[in-house]
Amino acid sequence: METNKKRGGAKNSLLKRWLDKKNKKGSQQVTGNQTPGIRKRPEANKAPLSYGQQRLWFLQQLNPDNPFYNYAENYLLEGALDKQHLADAFQDLIKQHEILRTCFVQDDNSQLSQHIQPSMPLLMEFFDLCNISEEERTHKAGQIAFQEAEKPFDLEKGPLMRVALIKLANHRHLMLICMHHIITDKWSMRIVRKDLSQFYTARSKGQALSVNPPTVQYADFAYWQRKQEVSQKELAYWKNKLEGSLPVLNLPVDRQRNGNPDYKGAYLPQSLPFDLSVALKALSKQLGTTPFVLLLTAYKILLHRYSGQIDLLIGTPITDRDQRVLEEMIGFFNNTVVLRSDLSGDPPFSSLVQQVRQTTLDAFSHKNTPFEEIVRSLKPERYTSSNPLFQAMFLYHKVPESPSFGPTLQISHQPFDLGVAKFDLTLYISEEDDQLKAIFEYATDLFERSTIEQMQGHLQTLLQGIVKDPNTPISQIPILTEPERKKLISDWNNTATTLPDASNIQGFFKQHAQQQPEAPAVICQGEVLTYGQLDEQSDCLAIQLRKAGLSQNQGVGLCAGRSFDMIIGIWGILKAGGAYIPIDPEYPTDRIRFMLKDAKASIILTEARYRELFSDQQAELLLIQDLANTPSDNVELPNVAIDHHAYIIYTSGSTGLPKGVPVTHRNLIHSTAARFDFYPNQPGRFLLLSSFAFDSSVVGLFWPLCTGGAIVLPPKRIEQDVDQLAGLIAEHEVTHTLMLPSLYRLLLQYAAAEQLASLNTVMVAGEACSAVLCGLHFETLPQADLFNEYGPTEASVWCTAHQIQPEDAVGSIPIGRPIANTQIYILDQHLQAVPAGISGELYVGGIGVTQGYLNRPDLTEERFIPDPFSQAAGAKLYKTGDLARYRSDGLIDFLGRADHQVKIRGYRIELDEIRERILQQDGISEAVVVARAEANHPKF
Ligand code: AMP
Ligand code: MG
Repeated sequence: METNKKRGGAKNSLLKRWLDKKNKKGSQQVTGNQTPGIRKRPEANKAPLSYGQQRLWFLQQLNPDNPFYNYAENYLLEGALDKQHLADAFQDLIKQHEILRTCFVQDDNSQLSQHIQPSMPLLMEFFDLCNISEEERTHKAGQIAFQEAEKPFDLEKGPLMRVALIKLANHRHLMLICMHHIITDKWSMRIVRKDLSQFYTARSKGQALSVNPPTVQYADFAYWQRKQEVSQKELAYWKNKLEGSLPVLNLPVDRQRNGNPDYKGAYLPQSLPFDLSVALKALSKQLGTTPFVLLLTAYKILLHRYSGQIDLLIGTPITDRDQRVLEEMIGFFNNTVVLRSDLSGDPPFSSLVQQVRQTTLDAFSHKNTPFEEIVRSLKPERYTSSNPLFQAMFLYHKVPESPSFGPTLQISHQPFDLGVAKFDLTLYISEEDDQLKAIFEYATDLFERSTIEQMQGHLQTLLQGIVKDPNTPISQIPILTEPERKKLISDWNNTATTLPDASNIQGFFKQHAQQQPEAPAVICQGEVLTYGQLDEQSDCLAIQLRKAGLSQNQGVGLCAGRSFDMIIGIWGILKAGGAYIPIDPEYPTDRIRFMLKDAKASIILTEARYRELFSDQQAELLLIQDLANTPSDNVELPNVAIDHHAYIIYTSGSTGLPKGVPVTHRNLIHSTAARFDFYPNQPGRFLLLSSFAFDSSVVGLFWPLCTGGAIVLPPKRIEQDVDQLAGLIAEHEVTHTLMLPSLYRLLLQYAAAEQLASLNTVMVAGEACSAVLCGLHFETLPQADLFNEYGPTEASVWCTAHQIQPEDAVGSIPIGRPIANTQIYILDQHLQAVPAGISGELYVGGIGVTQGYLNRPDLTEERFIPDPFSQAAGAKLYKTGDLARYRSDGLIDFLGRADHQVKIRGYRIELDEIRERILQQDGISEAVVVARAEANHPKF
């Protein structure tokens, strides 16, 4: 590669000094030692392998049939071609260069050496495609070239070069030259072309050019290189740069690799617009650097934006041809240097360029340590891979002019996809007449072509942004193309629907209570509470609460088991204009005390059996049954406003205390009404499994009673008895239920399918849903629809949903798309939308987003941020802490948490809350909390 020949802006630099040294005639000083130049090796037919050759040999032994180190170039020959002259010219070439007559032999003592043969046959095949249709011809030519390029070579016997000549038409031929990389490199191919052209032209003139092999050949270089001492100073530089555990580039992939890479690949070229090419070159000059450094910096930014990583290592090949005599030599001279950059602190592009420039100069001035020596001394874990230190590669190459093959024959280089990728991702920039072309070579076991097409678009947008303003911080340089941005920000969030005209949730219930007073509203332990009874009793309760002094929008502690009282209590509080604060009777008293105090609840409603729990509370304690059965005396109930709170749910808080999330009637109406259209079936009987202290209960509490269905309340701890659970579903002909995926899996595994036959709508939520569960569902209950619902308490229960399809049952199960009146943005740390396929944090906007935490302005400000994408005044986005990514079709994948929050049997827990509590104990100064799955624990 020619990069190291560039000089732009590198005055006084190490690179310049190195270049000057290199250009000194006969320069031989490579390591610090005084070394004589390359001379003829002592043994004519034998030499050790160069370091580079040894690495390739070793990798080839590890993957014996893999053609990943085949090196092929494809040329188009236009004009009159003489096949015989071409074959003769190749024979001349083989005579001229020993390396084309070399093979690699391991003797009985495992001693490896290269053997130079006096002669080597020319492998040249001829294919005539003139007689087939044009369409077929192109296809067939590609196929032949590919097959030829893929055939393995026998390193031990040779020949290691193969030529295929494909006749397309009378004056049109394709010529594929394929060699094992161990005998060639990109630079060598220029010599191959040049020498071939001279031999061919001479032969065409009928004057065989006398072959005059140079005195010094590749084997002499290898012998000389092996005699050099490795500079300890250079090695120390690399150790300092690369020691320790190196980050593995974490690019978002379309498929996880299982096992070792297969090195299969493809490439995708795209020319940059001419104006952009010119502007990039001008900018590199302006910034005092080279296009190589400028484009490498852009590539680093692209990888950073894709991976979120700031410590980035990219490899780049550099030639070992340090001496004049090597410049005319065919052979493998590639050494690899690793360019490591620190992208932390969001620097402007222009300063990152300077950092990369310095790193590049330093690396190039320490380039004489063979890569394998560095690898050997660092002993990285991935020793057997072709890329133990880095996963991405960068090349910048100026396309050389093609030599003349005489007046009647034109030769031009044809890009050729060998179907190989030695690295996960390589960006190859080629420059031809000021025009830049970006080529991505990618591992096909990781990436889809469409992903790389998208990446090409991002690279171009990024480069345009850089040219526009090189002082932009790297986080702010756009990468999304305009159509992509529109899709992510607007099209996929185009969910606006009219909210039902209601100012509070109870209106929906009231309507059904009036229409069907006899219909069951709640079924519990074999008893039924009708709509009429529930309406009347909750009215009475509401009136009594008003009498007890409950003011509007105030929180009321509600402590109840799974009973009619719980439902009566909820509706009574709502009708009185209050917000219910659910208190699980099993909560520790400290927690109960904190919640009531935090929410300034002056009234607690409970059942007689839990009275004792509140003996030391200041708040007034009232029994639901007492109030619900006190006849009402026509007191008017208030008009509850849409902005008033309906409930306040407490969730785990990382500071050691739970935090209250007030949810308004607007939020709740939105959350409930969004189900009316989304779900094909409205609930007939809804089995409510979640504790009402969690917002996953809100579905079952409100949806059925706002649509005329009934709630089935199970006995306590039914989750631990699958038979009983299934029995209950069968007995009450339950149609709908929502549960944790882990519980649903147990149900499907252990219950008889007949018992679940009444179910038509199953929702799983709260935790990631697995493909195994989906498979099991479609096997067992194909008649029921299965939905994955996602959402945090702060955004009112659900934000996205997906009706799972049988074909989803592979890989990860999406959480779907935003529900009505909801926007989902997947953003990076700098609130920039990340492209589809890339992981970011999920932010929620829309009507479901609540106003923030109770009494926690600091935390509210941190998690509820101004919505940068909305025109509406005061619109907020909730920052969920969940990681997610968009698929290319707009479905969203959940990818886990960005923090230490976990779900344990559906309970949302901040591990830091536990840690803080532990640290409050005397004598404890450090604590770490981890969540572990215990084998003997039920997993739900
Ligand atoms: P909560 O506020 O208790 O409803 O918990 C909300 C959190 O549960 C979300 O932020 C996610 O981390 C997780 N969660 C909820 N639904 C899902 C789902 N369908 N798949 C994966 N995780 C989920
Ligand atoms: Mg929830």
